[in-house]
Amino acid sequence: MASVKVAVRVRPFNQREMDMGAQLIIQMKGKTTGILNCKANARDESIRYKEFTFDYSYWSHDEKSENYASQERVYNDLGKEVVDCAFEGYNACVFAYGQTGSGKTFTMMGAMDNQGLIPRICKALFDRMADNSKRGTTHRVQVSYLEIYQERVADLLRGRDTTSLKVREHPKKGPYVQGLTTCLVANYSHIQECMERGNANRTTAATNMNDVSSRSHAIFTITFVQAGYCDGVPSETVSKIHLVDLAGSERADSTGATGQRLKEGAHINKSLVTLGSVISALAELSSEQKGEKSEKKNFFIPYRDSVLTWLLKDSLGGNSKTIMIAAISPADCNYGETLSTLRYANRAK
Ligand code: ADP
Ligand code: MG
Repeated sequence: MASVKVAVRVRPFNQREMDMGAQLIIQMKGKTTGILNCKANARDESIRYKEFTFDYSYWSHDEKSENYASQERVYNDLGKEVVDCAFEGYNACVFAYGQTGSGKTFTMMGAMDNQGLIPRICKALFDRMADNSKRGTTHRVQVSYLEIYQERVADLLRGRDTTSLKVREHPKKGPYVQGLTTCLVANYSHIQECMERGNANRTTAATNMNDVSSRSHAIFTITFVQAGYCDGVPSETVSKIHLVDLAGSERADSTGATGQRLKEGAHINKSLVTLGSVISALAELSSEQKGEKSEKKNFFIPYRDSVLTWLLKDSLGGNSKTIMIAAISPADCNYGETLSTLRYANRAK
């Protein structure tokens, strides 16, 4: 059964926000995240304050808060489940959504001395494999790392190669990228090498918002094969983990973008809008199956409407696990973007 989990994570103030004396507009308590609109008419409470409930609301200012989430906690709450899922033979997708500078890459990759979800998941995968090998199961791990930029796919493990690759659909195996590099990895340090090579190749361009901002979606994919014997017959189980650092969700106009930038924005939005529709359809389907809603609906899931969702089709829905982490800024100056991120995340529940 399709399962979607949604978490919101607010980052600490950055230097620019502190320098301009930014106000904290986010509140968290238990599963809820609240956002305050300082500029709104004081009499209308529904405009002044909005509240959303998610599976997790992660705070990062005050370590004593029950909502405080270190990288370790985010891994324990969300990453562990992904690893469990892979060992059980299911696929999983983790998405980091949010405006540029909100903490997507920090959550997915992390910092040098403070690793994020991707390295932690990889490490746990190899640790558990070592345990299972003692019980006679053999494993194979392959990784690929690609980027979707303007609805075109580039191979991040192939150096600064700008040729775009074609997405095709295999009648049995589903959508795939033709000619994409896949690296067979034998241990954690090997997988780390691939990660670092890909990170160095990610397309970045300057916008008014940030010195270097990510205008592309990056998908790190781990293909995990377990081989053993089932009633004396050799059997193989294949599962895929897709770890996705999405492009900045800011609307083109808020970055003062024109020309080429604007064109990029339009493409990025198309993928993000389609992803939003796909995930909310899946979430609806899942609550329908749980019997929470009675009316019968025709669930059309628009996978083919963007390269991102088409490529991930086999890992979204069905028995796959989907996790969305919405990264937000704590500051009043980002009110509009933060509210739009919270609304996007709210649709995914
Ligand atoms: P994005 O990938 O969304 O553009 P980054 O992940 O690069 O944003 O984050 C922007 C900056 O904020 C980075 O310097 C990062 O280290 C810092 N940062 C983001 N989230 C956190 C967090 N939860 N705790 C501490 N620092 C963070
Ligand atoms: Mg980033």
